[in-house]
Amino acid sequence: GALFHYNSIILNYFSETGGSGVPYVYYAILQLLKISNHDNCEKILSAVEFCLEKMELGSIPLTFNTEELLLLIEKWLQENTFTNLGKSSHIENLKTSLTQQFQFVTEYGNGLSDLMKKGGLNNYQTIGNDFKVINSFSGNRQKLLLINPNFKNHAGFLIDREKLFNTIVKSDLQSGFEFDYKIEILTGYNSNTSEHNLIYSSPLNPYFPGNLLQIKLKDENLIKNFIERRSWIYGIATVLLLVAMFLGIALIIRDNAREKHLARLRSDFISNVTHELKTPLTSVYMFAESLLLGRVKSDSERKEYLSIILKESERLKRMINNILEFSKMEKGKPEYHFINSNLSSILKAAIHEMDYWFEKEKFDVVTELDENIYAEVDSEKMQQVISNLLSNALKYSINTKKIFIRLFNNTNHIAIEIEDWGIGMQEDKLSQIFEEFYRIEQKESISGTGLGLTVVKEIVEAHKGKISVTSEIGKGSKFLITLNQ
Ligand code: ADP
Repeated sequence: GALFHYNSIILNYFSETGGSGVPYVYYAILQLLKISNHDNCEKILSAVEFCLEKMELGSIPLTFNTEELLLLIEKWLQENTFTNLGKSSHIENLKTSLTQQFQFVTEYGNGLSDLMKKGGLNNYQTIGNDFKVINSFSGNRQKLLLINPNFKNHAGFLIDREKLFNTIVKSDLQSGFEFDYKIEILTGYNSNTSEHNLIYSSPLNPYFPGNLLQIKLKDENLIKNFIERRSWIYGIATVLLLVAMFLGIALIIRDNAREKHLARLRSDFISNVTHELKTPLTSVYMFAESLLLGRVKSDSERKEYLSIILKESERLKRMINNILEFSKMEKGKPEYHFINSNLSSILKAAIHEMDYWFEKEKFDVVTELDENIYAEVDSEKMQQVISNLLSNALKYSINTKKIFIRLFNNTNHIAIEIEDWGIGMQEDKLSQIFEEFYRIEQKESISGTGLGLTVVKEIVEAHKGKISVTSEIGKGSKFLITLNQ
């Protein structure tokens, strides 16, 4: 019966209070806890839960007895065992919440009631949603109190400032930073900013008016150093770029000059070739015409004319061969047929081809040829090499007309020497004479195409050999070809 009556007091009269201001439910709960036993404790659990829910919502006021009541409920929970675990843990949560509320009341209750008596919350700043912030009325700057005075019973909540800031810092600000930083919460807006440091400031409105959140670099010199480093990098890069630009320009200028030089050489080459072709062709034409018209009476004269035609034709052939060889070189690799050959035979053939000219020009041709030297060569091309060198020796000898041709085995290679006592060359020109179209400008006007030595060098190198030259102006020149044994 008592259980029924106390339950009905709790359910129906929970908001009623006695003369002393203590709600009736406080008595009812105390009595229920007293009559509680093993059989009825489950039923009492529902009443206790209902009661605590109403207390939390503010329907049942908290009084100075609340703390004691909560202690008794806790003791009762520990002494009994309940099958409805959901309910008992709900009661636990309600109890914790109520304890917090109770602590709040104990801490701020008097202050708040003083505040109300003095003129309410009108002087406090509204920060949105009708809340007013009373951040330091208790002297505790750490806790912030937010009150909404629009309800019959003022509602509000308390914020632990440091806890909140830590939550903000830990969750949002921790990620996405490349540098070490520090965060400060400042009161007031007079933040002392240093010029070197990059500072992000943001007011913590609406809940913390007058508070400023500042994020700045831990190391103030970081940006300065960073900029300094970058300046160096950009500086060096700019210098390098400029150097590269100048180099590029210099190369372009050099290329242009080279291009012009080559263009001039090519045009010289055309006129030289024309001239070179003209001389033997004129001879061939003249002598052939004389023969045809029967102007030549004696047999010996006829023979001489025919041999001139033959020799001039050979000279033409040599020149055309050089041009053809050079054009093959330019297009790609010319074809070589390497056969083990006797080198003295090749040299002799080349000399023999030039016999007519040597005799005509009254040359003293001295040979010293080792007859037993064999090498893997393209004999036709090698003969072209010797012919070119002999023809040069012949062309560029004016006063002393002597040629010395040697073939011998050196310590570890085969050597071919062709020496003349002609006009010779300046030392500083020697490195260029093998270049295509290159001709040394001389006072003696000796015709040529500038391709003879280019072809010589190409062929010798195709045989894995080397060609070198020593010369002195007015004294003569000596070309040396070395081939592998
Ligand atoms: P070119 O058709 O002009 O003779 P080469 O390539 O054979 O062309 O020779 C290049 C240049 O080297 C010649 O123009 C000449 O000035 C110089 N030269 C070549 N051989 C001799 C030599 N035996 N004596 C002097 N000068 C030579």
